[in-house]
Amino acid sequence: TPTLPRPKHPRVFVVANQKGGVGKTTTTVNVAMGLALGGLNVLVIDNDPQSNASTALGIEHPVGTPGTYETLVEGDPIMAHAQQSPHSPNLHVLPATIDLAAAEMELAVMQGREARLKHALEQYLEQSGADYVFIDCPPSLGMLTLNALVASTEILVPIQTEYYALEGVTALLGTIDRVKGNLNDRLELTNILLTMYDKRTNLSKDVAAEVRSHFKKQTLATEIPRSVRIAEAPSFGQTVLTYQPRSEGAVAYASVAEEIANQVETKE
Ligand code: ADP
Ligand code: MG
Repeated sequence: TPTLPRPKHPRVFVVANQKGGVGKTTTTVNVAMGLALGGLNVLVIDNDPQSNASTALGIEHPVGTPGTYETLVEGDPIMAHAQQSPHSPNLHVLPATIDLAAAEMELAVMQGREARLKHALEQYLEQSGADYVFIDCPPSLGMLTLNALVASTEILVPIQTEYYALEGVTALLGTIDRVKGNLNDRLELTNILLTMYDKRTNLSKDVAAEVRSHFKKQTLATEIPRSVRIAEAPSFGQTVLTYQPRSEGAVAYASVAEEIANQVETKE
């Protein structure tokens, strides 16, 4: 039985911020693992040709491994290529390889190009009993990210707690507005996570306060500390939650998973 509440309806998150290196992938894999370790069924879609999420979740993905590219471009079902994580039986991953880089161009000339992931995901959700889906995105607002924005209902934005933190978010808000008015009315920016927080510096405190005042409702109470354990876990094919479960970073990500799980109506 799960220790975290199970949502009545599956929740689909896109983890987005078109700035690179702000903690998108780290947040995707650790929040997903936190929910899975809490007993919930979780799918991670690796939607970045860098395939860092696949690596961090311990999924083998040599060139030729079928995954997100085959779903987006060839129309394969997600179920056909999702792999179970070696670290949790209820965490599945649709892997990416560098091949996905070509999808950006190939999608541009395809029918219904913005909604291909959405259709695949609808089918998967009917078949799988997933409670949560997290889509990790590249640091750009191209066709891959657009497909993720159209397939999702919630946006989780990691913000690095540093100078100009809000700058990237402004561009993202513009994109969200265009997608909402056009391709996906249900999309909402529901969660902002402050990452790489350094509690010793005034800068971190000031930026955190600024983000919280702009996004009162959306900013999660938990801040993710800057932590070597978090950064080194992927080189062991792990999330920090399985690699160093008692470290400060693991405790913080577990607490984020719990905050998110407690946001909605639940079913027994
Ligand atoms: P993005 O997906 O937005 O490009 P990543 O999640 O890959 O960002 O993070 C960028 C780099 O920072 C990675 O090397 C990652 O391991 C490291 N990192 C992420 N979060 C933390 C943290 N809280 N503390 C220390 N290093 C972190
Ligand atoms: Mg990334």
